Amino acid sequence: AAKAAGRNGYVFYNEALEAKQQLIAEGIHMAEQALADNRFVLWYQPLVALHGHVLGVEALLRLDTGRAEGLLNPGHFFSALDHPLLARKIGRFVLNTAVHQGMLWLNQGFSLRVGINISARHLLDSEFMQDIHAILARYPDFPRELIELEVTESAPMLDFPSAISTLQAINALGIHIALDDFGTGNASLTYLQRLPAQTIKIDQSFVRDILVDNKDLAIVAGVTSTAQALGLEIVAEGVESLGHARKLADLGVNVLQGFAIAEPMPAEKISNWVKNYKPIFCAD
Ligand code: C2E
Ligand code: MG
Ligand code: MG
Ligand code: MG
Repeated sequence: AAKAAGRNGYVFYNEALEAKQQLIAEGIHMAEQALADNRFVLWYQPLVALHGHVLGVEALLRLDTGRAEGLLNPGHFFSALDHPLLARKIGRFVLNTAVHQGMLWLNQGFSLRVGINISARHLLDSEFMQDIHAILARYPDFPRELIELEVTESAPMLDFPSAISTLQAINALGIHIALDDFGTGNASLTYLQRLPAQTIKIDQSFVRDILVDNKDLAIVAGVTSTAQALGLEIVAEGVESLGHARKLADLGVNVLQGFAIAEPMPAEKISNWVKNYKPIFCAD
């Protein structure tokens, strides 16, 4: 019996590993096809400031299957964002599309900051700075402070010195940096101390239960007061109800993002959404 269990254990392990490898391969394959067929698109989710106005949007990548499944979230192809060549190609697409869209909005009279998620692979890519300079050269009239690159803790973890120098160079160009999914890594405070950043985006896993879990509430309160002391903007992600928004306002969070404000939407819906936006409430 022991032998059989051992054998089964071995089989399960292998199956789990194979399933994982298959998911990785599938993600890469899907992304290659989508790049070839121009089936990547960006959706945008509004971020609102507490005193009422729409601060900007975050660009969120979607893969259009062209079939009944419709659009897929990055969760379906995360492996592609970690693949050196694909991360570069997808990253370029995202940068170009998002800044182009920001410029279109600006020309329509909407000054929106555009948050752009940067994969660790792309940030550390030898051509990343070239890609940044290329985008600034292509859109010289787009205010640089309206570009905010969102970086997670995974990038510095791979290569801290080069992540710091790249982020400093980007910051020196006037582009903003946000520390995304803040608190989920294992070196958040080190990053806060050493990386140039204007914004902290506290991860939704801390925000979700603030109304029912005092520990989470204490964590969000602590991160918020740390951000305030450092003069950083603090964004709460995953704001799913008005109750969350009120609580976050009480804590001094500056900017809210989440389904209670708006879900991600196609670019063409943003200008109407901004025009019709009535502050969910105004903190004074
Ligand atoms: P993220 O940067 O933390 O983005 C926020 C995620 O939370 C998005 O998921 C968004 O749809 C979701 N979200 C927003 N509001 C709420 C809410 O109230 N409740 C809940 N439960 N979720 C909410 P999405 O679009 O599936 O993206 C997942 C992650 O994929 C992103 O997390 C980001 O790390 C990555 N990602 C997205 N777009 C890009 C991209 O263009 N490039 C790269 N490299 N990564 C991207
Ligand atoms: Mg983000
Ligand atoms: Mg985030
Ligand atoms: Mg997140």
